[in-house]
Amino acid sequence: MVEPKGTRQFDTGRCIGCGVCADVCPNEAIEVINGVAALTHPEKCEICGICEEICEQGAIKISGEGSDKDETK
Ligand code: SF4
Ligand code: SF4
Repeated sequence: MVEPKGTRQFDTGRCIGCGVCADVCPNEAIEVINGVAALTHPEKCEICGICEEICEQGAIKISGEGSDKDETK
């Protein structure tokens, strides 16, 4: 399995640890540890962008090759 190129940044200053991103991630790549979300399994992440869209705090930034985010919304 090839890890997609790109950036997946979690802003620990904005994150409130709600866990929604971990719940929606289809690949279980995110875990909330000590009240902060972290990409604990980056090799599982396919840069789908779902977590970025769902985070109400704007704490996640997903970009890069392999992204199939729907930009038309
Ligand atoms: S959805 Fe956003 S605020 Fe909630 S745990 Fe994930 S990164 Fe943090
Ligand atoms: S971009 Fe998709 S696969 Fe990667 S951590 Fe977010 S929801 Fe999971």
